[in-house]
Amino acid sequence: MANRPKLVLKPEREPSLERRHPWVFSGAVAEVRGDPQPGATIDVVSARGDFLAQAAYSPLSQIRARVWTWDQNETVDGAFLRARLQAAISSRAGIEKDSDAYRLVHAESDGLPGIVVDKYGDIVVLQCLNWGAEAWRDELAHALADITGCTIYERSDADVRKLEGLPERVGWLHGQADLAAHTIREHGLEYKVDLGGGHKTGFYLDQRDNRLTLRQLAAGRETLDCFSYTGGFAMNALKGGAKKVTLVEDSADALAAARANIERNALDVDAAEFINGDAFQVLRRFRDEARKYDLIVLDPPKFAPTKAQAERAARGYKDINLLALKLLRPSGLLATFSCSGGVEPALFQKIVAGAALDAGIDARILGRFSQGSDHPVALSFPEGEYLKGLLVQV
Ligand code: SAH
Repeated sequence: MANRPKLVLKPEREPSLERRHPWVFSGAVAEVRGDPQPGATIDVVSARGDFLAQAAYSPLSQIRARVWTWDQNETVDGAFLRARLQAAISSRAGIEKDSDAYRLVHAESDGLPGIVVDKYGDIVVLQCLNWGAEAWRDELAHALADITGCTIYERSDADVRKLEGLPERVGWLHGQADLAAHTIREHGLEYKVDLGGGHKTGFYLDQRDNRLTLRQLAAGRETLDCFSYTGGFAMNALKGGAKKVTLVEDSADALAAARANIERNALDVDAAEFINGDAFQVLRRFRDEARKYDLIVLDPPKFAPTKAQAERAARGYKDINLLALKLLRPSGLLATFSCSGGVEPALFQKIVAGAALDAGIDARILGRFSQGSDHPVALSFPEGEYLKGLLVQV
């Protein structure tokens, strides 16, 4: 073992690492030897002193270390990271022909903890979520510029950085481009994206294939796109021949962007109704007005990032699903999603089943949704799976 600092586990705390789960929780740590800087590469060893992994050190987070490699002889350096980036990026090769915006690196599931890289045409956005990623930021930016030939923008402004004691940082890392006019294409539609200030790194790339599925379901259907953001599902509904589409979104900016996106694609803006408001209230109003739809999309924001918030989140999901089910005409379809990591697919299905029961509505699951293949889930890291959805027919 090189003379790297060591993180020594408490007795019997190595099984999760032996199963190659890449996180070391603070409660499993007996002691830290040496004086590692935040983000430094350390050796994780068992209480008996056996080498388990090399990991990035996060002194403040409950997740005290995240594994880079299980090999004690590998060197974690710029070349190591470049090889991991290259492998992740190569595995996405097939996506580009249909869409020029997709995820190149999905953090832990691509062997790069805390590192998210999204491609938006010729701009690549890097997000560093923990100290390990932060420590290698310059090397990551250089390697990404080399491999992709794109300009590199940083969106390290996600909330989870606070848990690491890291400040927000946003700006150009390599080259520069006009962010204000940037557009992407996805399955034949063009979207203006706000990479500087939009949600996540600018767009909900994880729903790409589900938006296409919705297009295939929409013909002739009066559609409600609840939590519409910049209109992804609504545009696909119109593209697929929906009779009418109602968008509900509480961000006025996102809703304005949705209208502009519909116009940009020469879709029928007169068939679209834009409602700026809180979906919980709007759905109640629609119920009171006895509105009816043939197809409803519910794609709310993350109600529960972790399991601890699952119960409160469950109430929110049940509420909107119950209301939506009541708005459906006979044989109507509900595409309902949860992107809460703390709500597992089985629990989500239970919540939707509870909503149907309370609504007094019989319904069947016709299909299931998940995140796109550019958001893979390492088998040893089930936490990588966060987006789930059900296609339900009443
Ligand atoms: N379906 C979208 C992504 C939706 S993300 C797509 O394909 O791009 C969730 C959206 O819900 C965000 O745009 C957020 O602004 C909006 N939102 C959050 N809380 C809301 C609320 N209470 N009512 C309506 N919209 C809300």
